Amino acid sequence: MKRFFLTTALLLAITAQAQRLDLGWPTPSTAYLEGRPLEEFIQPTATGETNSGLFGCRRSGGAQFHEALDLKPLKRDRRGEPTDPVFSVLSGVVRYIGRIPGNSNYGRYIVLEHTDVEPAIYTLYAHLAAIDPGLNTGDAVTRGQVLGTMGRSSSGQTIPRERAHLHFEMGVMLSRDFESWFHWKKFGSRNQQGLWNGMNLLGFDPLDFYNEFRARRVDTFRDYFAQMQTAVRLRIGIRRTPDYVMRYPALVTKPMPADGVIGGWEIHVNEMGLPFSFTPLTPMEAMGVGIDEVRVLEANETLLKQHRCQSLVSSKRGSWVIGRDLQEVLQLVFGLR
Ligand SMILES: [Zn+2]
Repeated sequence: MKRFFLTTALLLAITAQAQRLDLGWPTPSTAYLEGRPLEEFIQPTATGETNSGLFGCRRSGGAQFHEALDLKPLKRDRRGEPTDPVFSVLSGVVRYIGRIPGNSNYGRYIVLEHTDVEPAIYTLYAHLAAIDPGLNTGDAVTRGQVLGTMGRSSSGQTIPRERAHLHFEMGVMLSRDFESWFHWKKFGSRNQQGLWNGMNLLGFDPLDFYNEFRARRVDTFRDYFAQMQTAVRLRIGIRRTPDYVMRYPALVTKPMPADGVIGGWEIHVNEMGLPFSFTPLTPMEAMGVGIDEVRVLEANETLLKQHRCQSLVSSKRGSWVIGRDLQEVLQLVFGLR
């Protein structure tokens, strides 16, 4: 009872300001809200290191990107399986339900899109044991609504019972034209997840976001994206407006040119390759950047070195070369082939 009261009080406190997000936590654990140590709510991999359950270049000695937080269960049944419900952290719309665990490394999972926040981020809840049978794609959900039950479903590596957890992501969707990119890449498999395929999603660090929000350094996602650090700044000679920009207009730094003619874009990406700032350039401003050309203006080497699991740019004979991961982001966002 005391625990329940505390959570409610905290939620009320963080939603007191009108424009501040109405944000919840995805599991019944109150450890994070109470400021308790990470060990109490983060589920590590077999290494046992708490860091391995966090977002970022945390696995295989820093070479592997984990795009989520792995959250521990509080309660288990007699067989040792978790019974924790999983909650929607914001109001939103159900965009994808993966009911067949064998179809994805996410196992059974749900993707929500939060269309009443800016940018309209997605949240993803994976490895579920069960999904609320009444939940359908297109349904509206409220903050705190039960989506399913925590578990350990996955098409890939078996997650042992003792390491059952919720894989919780927050991020952006790269392209509405994902299917054509997927086809062009010739993966030799079928895309079963549509737009909500993990390759079309790019996360940011949920824990960092919650920390900034709790400390009241940010009130909204717009604030949070505005304070992201620039890992790479570049110019692109593309005259179209990407659907990413149409869907996330909060990321555009200035109005479109009055005559509607765009010569290109200047963009900033963070250390994971997430584009968080777009400036439309007039043809005059874009002069010198060829059609479809990508020119790196600036790269923060210190930041890139700290996050070496994502290959964004590398230096070759004094000039910057775009790495594989950033290339894919640009292919998806700008339709580059
Ligand atoms: Zn995970």
